[in-house]
Parts: sequence; C-alpha cells; structure tokens
Amino acid sequence: KTGVVVAGGGQAGFQVAASLRQGGYGGPVTIVAEEPRLPYQRPPLSKTYIKTDADFDSLLLKPRSFYEKNAISLRTGDRVVAIDRQACTVGLASGGSLAYDHLVLAVGASNRVLPIAGNALAGVHQLRTAAEAERLRAGLAGAARVVVVGGGFIGLEVAAALRALEKQVTVVEAADRLMGRTVSREVSRFFLDEHRKMGTEIRLGAAVAAVLGEDRARAVRLSDGEELAADLVLIAAGVTPNDQLAAEAGLETRNGILVDHHMATADPRIFAIGDCAAFHSPFAERIVRLESVQNAVDQAKLVAERIISGAASLPPYRAVPWFWSDQGPFKLQIVGLTAGADHVETAGLGEAGKLVAYCFKGERLLGIETVNRPGEHMLGRRLLAEDLVVARNEVAREGFDLKAHVA
Ligand code: FAD
Repeated sequence: KTGVVVAGGGQAGFQVAASLRQGGYGGPVTIVAEEPRLPYQRPPLSKTYIKTDADFDSLLLKPRSFYEKNAISLRTGDRVVAIDRQACTVGLASGGSLAYDHLVLAVGASNRVLPIAGNALAGVHQLRTAAEAERLRAGLAGAARVVVVGGGFIGLEVAAALRALEKQVTVVEAADRLMGRTVSREVSRFFLDEHRKMGTEIRLGAAVAAVLGEDRARAVRLSDGEELAADLVLIAAGVTPNDQLAAEAGLETRNGILVDHHMATADPRIFAIGDCAAFHSPFAERIVRLESVQNAVDQAKLVAERIISGAASLPPYRAVPWFWSDQGPFKLQIVGLTAGADHVETAGLGEAGKLVAYCFKGERLLGIETVNRPGEHMLGRRLLAEDLVVARNEVAREGFDLKAHVA
C-alpha cells in the first residue's frame, strides 16, 4: 500500500491524518508541510498571541509524540511542487517524490498582497503564520502608532488586541462597513460603535494608495491624498486560495479547488479540504469557499471516512457552518451562511454588549449572528442541523424565546 499523502500541515491537513488513524486506517500517512513547524492553531495568532509572550508550544494541535505514536510521517519545511496524476506521485521541493493511493490537498490560502507602492517596506506586516505573528509581536515593541489595512475579522481582532496594549490604532476599510463580506449591517454597526469606544479610529470607505517611507514605513497614504502616520502597518486584506498546484495538474478551480459533496476533485484519488476547497453548500445553495476551523475539521473528518470506507454511498457533506471572532471583550459567533440575507431581526438590544441577529432570506432563516450570547449560538446550530423552521413573524414577536422554540 502506498497510502495517503497530505499536502499542507495546517488545521485541515493535521485533522485528516489524525482522523485516518482514529478510524483505523492502516496504510502509510505522510504530511508534507511547508512551514518548518509542527501543525498549530491559527486563531490565537490575532487574539492572544500577539499581545502576550506566549510560547509557540501553546499553539500546537498535538505534541511531536502524537505523530510518532500514530505513525504519521511529518515532513515539515518541505513543499509539494507538482502532481503527476498518471503516475500517482507528488514532486517535492526538497527533490524526490512520494507515491500515493490518495492525495489530500489541504494547502490553505495566502494573504492577498495589495498592489500598492511601499507594500514591502520594513514595518509592513501580514498575519497568517506563527512566524509572521512573532515578527509582528517583535515589531510592536517600538511602535506607538499602528495602521491596520482591512476591517475584517483579523484586522479587527488585532486592532482590539493592540488597544489593550495601548497602541494608537487606525483601521482603514475600503467598504462602507466593517466585516462586510461576512456579517449583517446590524452586526457591522454594533462593532463599529464598540471599536470606536475602545479608542480605535475607524475609516470606512477609505482606500489605501501607498505605504510611504524610505527605509521603513512611516505613513499610509489614502487615495484622497490624506496621510496617516504609522510606525507599523498591518495589511489584513483577505486571502486567496492556494489552488495553483491543482490547476497545474489539470483540476478545475473556481476561487478554490472545485470538489464534490465528498470533497473529491474530478480525479477520485485527489481530495481538497479547508481554506483551499470550493464546494457546493446546501446552506448557501451555491459554490462557496469557507475560511474557518469548523470547515477545515469537518471536511477533513469526512474525507478520512471516505478514504477508509471507500464508500461512494456516504451521506454528502452537510456540516452546519459556524464561525467565531473575539474582538476585545466581544465574542462574535455566527451559525449558517448569512451573506445573502435580505431581512434581519435583532433581539437583545436592551442588554449592553449583547446582540442576537436573525438573518433571513425571504422567509428562510439563513443563520444567526450573536455577540456574547453563546446559548443562542448553540441553539442556532441545532436549529440548522435539524432543519427546524422558525418564522420571521415569530422571531419579531416581543419576548421570542429561541430555547422554547428548539426544545
Ligand atoms: P492552513 O491552516 O492555512 O494550512 C495550510 C498549510 O499548507 C500552511 O501551513 C501552508 O504553509 C501549507 N502549504 C501550502 N502549500 C503547500 C504545498 N504546496 N505543500 C506543502 N504545504 C503547503 N477560523 C475560525 O474559525 N475562527 C477564528 O477565530 C479564526 N481566526 C484566525 C486568525 C488568523 C490570524 C488566521 C490566519 C486564521 C484564522 N481562522 C479562524 C481561520 C482558520 O485558521 C483557517 O480557516 C484554517 O487554518 C484553515 O485550515 P487549512 O488547513 O485549510 O489551511
């Protein structure tokens, strides 16, 4: 048996290897991981890791002994550079090749590089990897004024963390609201107010034209000519999926590696999971690519089961999508894919610092966005998993109780 080769040692790559062993897979399992580190969690990078002196080991998904005990061969610091689908082998950056029965592409995504002058100056940072977080942490020591480019989850998490360190923080967002791709206007507005109360300056509808500086960044210039002084600049302008390797092997890509309801590409030996995979979601009724731990873990588990059982009859991927983002004292949780909502009912506005937003498309509940209301979030997961119907006019009624509805 030539076994399973996993390209990528992030959340999804780790999980598929672990689940293969947990499910009793007996063949060789090899993870080829570009980063020269054991697989680790990214979520703390933008929340706690940059504002504390936490050890890298605190991020590890499992200690080294786990891989030895489970006979998972981990080739860190190496990269899959080519796929030969006829020969069923992958080529490695270190030279040589590995044969596979099944290949799992768990190659993640890369930070979008803004095509602006000065984007490579010293003092300009990105945040995807632990190494980048450590560079950012080191750079913060001598920085009083920070400009964050991008008002999405990561930019805002970092902004809140830096306010806790008493940095002067400005967030520049090109759209007219925060987290515009992922949350409703109601939740955007809530966070706009709260970040301003934390002391962060937020510029909406502001496009960045250049980073200015000779040897190192000293300011950010907006497209209207205004200059914002900065000792450090973080570019958090989203990611693009790492789908080139698959495309070069003749596999279809559509903002991500296109896969079916079992995360298989058109080549039945090759799967794609996590941030790099584009799939049809029943929760959006279109092809999506999701960037979340839940998505990486659940897709990995399904692929492990599929490889072990070989069963084309397994039920299709149908895990309820959920997300979280910690911004200062506020825990935002989202269940469902709420981007296409055309009607939002909010509740809990009476209670300071809390919010529940029910997002509908027509009469259909797409999902629920909550702030510091973990109970409703968990109920929302059940609601969507069990396909329970909740009507708009019920939710709108004074004193609507989700718990009573789900029970
Ligand atoms: P990744 O974790 O990106 O792993 C892919 C790995 O593959 C990388 O290590 C990459 O170097 C490697 N690789 C790429 N190409 C190759 C190749 N050719 N050969 C070998 N290796 C290769 N999600 C949440 O749900 N909640 C959060 O609060 C949250 N916070 C986040 C904060 C930050 C700062 C970041 C960056 C992400 C956050 N996410 C969060 C998203 C979450 O971490 C990702 O969705 C998840 O890591 C995706 O896992 P993945 O394995 O698909 O990709």
